[in-house]
Amino acid sequence: MSTNEFKETPACADKNTAFPTEDVCPKCGADIEIWSDEDETTCRSCDYVIRNS
Ligand SMILES: [Zn+2]
Repeated sequence: MSTNEFKETPACADKNTAFPTEDVCPKCGADIEIWSDEDETTCRSCDYVIRNS
């Protein structure tokens, strides 16, 4: 029984070409960033959830 089996895990690096979009929280006006691979992000100032359109 071998426990020395190494599995190759796929590197989750290169395939992502996500980029951030700067926006403003509609609730408190704070600057926020929504990444292109995210459906939504949360305002760090007021916890308002901004959906990525
Ligand atoms: Zn906010």
